Amino acid sequence: MKVPVASPLASYLAHQDEIDSAIDRVLTSRSYVLGPEVEAFEGEFASYIGRDRAVGVGNGTDAVEIALRACGVGPGDAVITVSHTAVATVAAIELAGATPILVDIDPSTFTLDPGRVESTIRDSRSARIKAVIAVHLYGHPADMVSLMRIAREYDLWLIEDCAQAHGALVDGVRAGGLGDVGTFSFYPTKNLGAIGDGGAVAAGSELAGKVASLRQYGLQAAAGSEQPGMNSRLDELQAAILRVKLRHLDDENARRRRLASHYSEILEPTSIQCPMTRPGVEHAFHQYVIRTPRRDELRDHLIGCSVGTGIHYPVPVHLQPGYAGRTAMGSGGLGHTEAASREILSLPVYPQLSDDDVDHVAGLVREWAQR
Ligand SMILES: *Cc1c(COP(=O)(O)O)cnc(C)c1O
Repeated sequence: MKVPVASPLASYLAHQDEIDSAIDRVLTSRSYVLGPEVEAFEGEFASYIGRDRAVGVGNGTDAVEIALRACGVGPGDAVITVSHTAVATVAAIELAGATPILVDIDPSTFTLDPGRVESTIRDSRSARIKAVIAVHLYGHPADMVSLMRIAREYDLWLIEDCAQAHGALVDGVRAGGLGDVGTFSFYPTKNLGAIGDGGAVAAGSELAGKVASLRQYGLQAAAGSEQPGMNSRLDELQAAILRVKLRHLDDENARRRRLASHYSEILEPTSIQCPMTRPGVEHAFHQYVIRTPRRDELRDHLIGCSVGTGIHYPVPVHLQPGYAGRTAMGSGGLGHTEAASREILSLPVYPQLSDDDVDHVAGLVREWAQR
């Protein structure tokens, strides 16, 4: 039995008729970029997240960069985030012209540790810290209650990188609806995935208006460019496909949670560390990540059994050649980040996976752990 770690093809096939007719509709519509499908998707996605407005952009990296720029973050400013994330989060800070300060994670949820954020702010009074980017890694929201308090106290913008957390909830509020602004990627393997690149920024109407201008040369209706902008647009095909997939997102996230609890039932009695969910959180399980000191050995074993796995992420951003030496480190160092990168392993979890697939994969991991 072969089990891949992700399957964007399965996601297309699960909704093939609806997606094909959405594509047909766009092909003959005469409008291919930023047209009625984008506008409709933006409205539907904003109301799903619970925000005034969502603005479609080219991808999730641009979404973070544009959100920062809309908040007025730029050269001379510093932005706090994690090193345990997709390199895109940190790349976007530099693309906006700001300097990343990378802070350690809380090892129980693999997300930004608010205590370390606060000590970093206190210890680096000389840096012009303007914003914090909370990454809801693997679909588990960062500790937003603490981060919202810190952002208020120190007058910082709070940006949620929701590229892995479409539909996750904190006390009944959707990820992306808690901080000042939420950013999303619709890369094909994400919980809400297009068939190509896409992204969105969700915010209140004032900030969202700035985002809408920035995504297209800084344009403002009749006035021409009101600010230096970029070109980062969502196209009609992707928007039409995303409208189909958005209708299935809650069901698919529920399926991910069922598969995750099935994994945990089988693996919790072993020495393997399973994902935890903080009280009040509804996890979106973009990834199901286990932890063991013998990670590489387990990974090789699963590869030998035709089971795909992932490591998110094998090298923290501050140690990657493109970034090493350029990013600042938060107070207390990055010990939890570096330890996690050596021990984490992502098992297959996507809505089209069968219960038997999960039985099979979890059984292989259990057997290995008990040997
Ligand atoms: C995927 C991802 C991004 C970047 O999205 P792209 O669409 O690939 O640019 C940013 N942040 C996180 C946490 C991601 O997982």
